[in-house]
Amino acid sequence: MIADLIHDGFDRDHLWHPYTSTHSPLPTYKVDHADGAYIYLADGTRLIDGMSSWWCVIHGYNNKIINDAIKGQLDSMSHVMFGGLTHQPAIELGKLLLSILPPSMNHIFYADSGSVATEVAMKMAVQAHDNPDKTNFATIKNGYHGDTWNAMSVCDPVTGMHGAFGPALPIRFFAPAPECRFGDEWDPDDFVPMKKILEENAGSLAAVILEPIVQGAGGMRFYHPQYLRELRKECDRLGLILIFDEIATGFGRTGKLFAWEYAGVEPDIMLIGKALTGGYMTFSAIATTKEIADRISSSQSGVMMHGPTFMGNPLACATALASTRLLLASDWQKRIKEIEAIMEAELREAEKWGSVENVRVLGGIGVVQMKQDVDLAEFQKLCVKEGVWIRPFGKNAYIMPPYLAVNDDDVRSLCRALLKILGEMYGR
Ligand SMILES: *Cc1c(COP(=O)(O)O)cnc(C)c1O
Repeated sequence: MIADLIHDGFDRDHLWHPYTSTHSPLPTYKVDHADGAYIYLADGTRLIDGMSSWWCVIHGYNNKIINDAIKGQLDSMSHVMFGGLTHQPAIELGKLLLSILPPSMNHIFYADSGSVATEVAMKMAVQAHDNPDKTNFATIKNGYHGDTWNAMSVCDPVTGMHGAFGPALPIRFFAPAPECRFGDEWDPDDFVPMKKILEENAGSLAAVILEPIVQGAGGMRFYHPQYLRELRKECDRLGLILIFDEIATGFGRTGKLFAWEYAGVEPDIMLIGKALTGGYMTFSAIATTKEIADRISSSQSGVMMHGPTFMGNPLACATALASTRLLLASDWQKRIKEIEAIMEAELREAEKWGSVENVRVLGGIGVVQMKQDVDLAEFQKLCVKEGVWIRPFGKNAYIMPPYLAVNDDDVRSLCRALLKILGEMYGR
């Protein structure tokens, strides 16, 4: 009977969940409510959240300050069109974002989701060149930039969706993912394949897009900051636009407020999303320099050709403002260091296991990469038994807890449950 309570039949028969088959849907667990670092299932089971609901819930669930900000905004207006109208939440948020984004960022475009931010950034790059020959993109393998059409085209060709949509997708240039790991010594050979691609195809390229330092959903890989410095130099030399997708890395997750800070080189266009609203609702922003904005504005069309219905939604802006202020007022750097140290101490032993490829920890992200794909349905069943919520992807089982809500014991419990389950399933 408990099974009926947490595995809803209507849901199983009629609702699509991310990347699922209607023939053999993965089990879903029904949530009653969530509070702080905990998710409560319909049967009362408490799970420690190890996912931040895919990178975004940094303050934990049901945060009073953010709740109050939303309620306040709701009473004045939840939405007005951004075409021809503006409002204080959009202005205040814009000011705050420009004060924390790379110094050269000067213009902000508000969009609806991370994937849409990717589309907008790619459109900006094409419009800025205003040259029918320069419309293609280069990226690195193992990337993830979202599920819409052009975003898919720059996702990893293997773990992304090129298999399902191949011929329908525009063909992009893929350099191998950087081999030099974060923390390792830099090997100049690592940049050679990308340099070659850019040199040979500069005439057809508009931009290079990639996730700085941490590649998220496409492989959970942490790479050397020098790669980004080399890339910046090469883009400058060849007149290519550089796009950093910080949708996953933004707002402190890696130990810096934004991951570009590890390399100290700025992009021409930067994307943020996910933790922007503290995980309360979908929202994203695309920031760019005065130079790119000027180029777009003096292009043939003369305007930035994008304008979603819910652009600059006041409720989303007010939420993002409250979440970002709350983050900046906290000692997030210290907290992430502490969480990083606990994950390092707890997870590192798995590196000796025969079933484990390697263990990686950076900021609020701890990854155990297995030698084989993790059976998701089985893993999650054991998770719920252990009172934790962790969702592996492929070979990677990882923890990224809501860093401003978890306590030390929660982090330890997450790590121990993760190792216990992986040990039970695949041996030590
Ligand atoms: C999640 C993600 C996206 C897509 O964001 P959605 O809000 O899911 O559309 C894009 N880029 C990166 C790096 C992401 O992690």
